[in-house]
Amino acid sequence: MDLSWSVADTRFRQEVREFLAAELTPDLRKAGHSLTSVYADYDIGMKWQRILHKRGWAAPAWPVQYGGCGWSVAQRYIFASELASAGAPPTSPMGVGMCGPVLIGHGTAEQKAHYLPRMLSGEDFWCQGYSEPGSGSDLASLQMSARDDGDHFVCNGHKIWTTHAHVANWIFCLVRTSREKIPQLGITFLLIDMKSPGIDVKPIVSLSGEHIQNEVFFTDVRVPKKNVVGQIGDGWTVAKYLMQFERGGGVSSPGLKVRLERVRAMSEAEGIEDEVFSVKLAQAAIEIAVLEAVEMRVMSSLSQGQAPGAESSMLKMASTELSQRLTELAVEAAGLYALPYQPFSVSAGGPSPNYRPPSNQTPVGPDYSWTVAAKYLNDRAGSIYAGTNEVQRNILSKAVLGL
Ligand SMILES: Cc1cc2nc3c(=O)[nH]c(=O)nc-3n(C[C@H](O)[C@H](O)[C@H](O)COP(=O)(O)OP(=O)(O)OC[C@H]3O[C@@H](n4cnc5c(N)ncnc54)[C@H](O)[C@@H]3O)c2cc1C
Repeated sequence: MDLSWSVADTRFRQEVREFLAAELTPDLRKAGHSLTSVYADYDIGMKWQRILHKRGWAAPAWPVQYGGCGWSVAQRYIFASELASAGAPPTSPMGVGMCGPVLIGHGTAEQKAHYLPRMLSGEDFWCQGYSEPGSGSDLASLQMSARDDGDHFVCNGHKIWTTHAHVANWIFCLVRTSREKIPQLGITFLLIDMKSPGIDVKPIVSLSGEHIQNEVFFTDVRVPKKNVVGQIGDGWTVAKYLMQFERGGGVSSPGLKVRLERVRAMSEAEGIEDEVFSVKLAQAAIEIAVLEAVEMRVMSSLSQGQAPGAESSMLKMASTELSQRLTELAVEAAGLYALPYQPFSVSAGGPSPNYRPPSNQTPVGPDYSWTVAAKYLNDRAGSIYAGTNEVQRNILSKAVLGL
């Protein structure tokens, strides 16, 4: 394993830094640094996506022929880590990160030509309709039905936890097109226009007071069959393909390092001189360094054409649990300022760049403490979404320990 950067990689890192210095405006940087969720607000995320798109950098992992960058694994790692270190807001993962690769891998030529450019430009904004009230970890038990009606399907059902469904104009769904003995069979991957008659979106307001997730109800929604991705009844294959992109490939350690430094700065501003607290910071720093080493090792394997395998489960668990630990340390550092419930100081995915508190309410505490509690509450979801950490441990126990 060779972890040294080539001359070309170092030059590329410099090019990314120059781009960020020129294009990452203070409002974008502020929004990125003060995120309470892993998702940026729609407006902020789209503003940044348009800047990336103009530069041709909106889809680092896509092949060049579809508007991607055609970068090496090392270049993608450098790009992701420079963006995280600079505090760039994340772009929505559901379009370019998930549905895009699925269309590239399983879509028809017509689907690719229509959807991919609109995904890159932000004209279409996607959400993911997998989970249902009774089907999360056991996703194959999903019930939303799609009845055959000539050249259309008629869809009825209920999706839940659908991130950004209230701003998305398209949703990719797993639906049941037939009932088979093996539940994985009879599932179809379907693209649905959110403006279709019969779709009703209801907000789920989280503990932190933010509206990011939703319930989506489908009543006799007509969807053309040309919107099926892959084969009818073979949606499970497509869904598994997508999960590789949902869980793997992310780079977490640079962002965690930045957040650790912010907790350290907050503890200094609060005058904390507690040895036990210092030990906790040092422990987190060591674990982030270990995570970084594993991320580099995975990057090195990917560069040699190997699949990440069980390491993607390990990275998902380690990064989300470290992130949760940092939110706990931030609450500890903020002390009493983490107590007031002040949802008006955050918007979904972070404080609004031009945030002004309502005239009758002033946020309590110094500005670095306003979102500490919201981030703590929001981050509990990290060990649940994209496959719960318990399920990841099951995968590891089988794949690594052979249990
Ligand atoms: C913030 C957030 C955003 C989300 N966004 C989306 C989205 O955009 N689109 C979408 O489709 N879904 C989304 N989800 C849903 C997410 O994928 C599910 O919450 C997740 O898969 C878990 O399913 P569940 O909530 O039904 O919990 P369950 O599957 O019911 O699990 C309940 C508990 O049982 C444990 N458990 C379950 N099975 C096992 C097992 N075999 N072994 C050990 N323990 C087990 C789990 O770990 C968990 O602790 C989101 C969830 C959250 C919290």
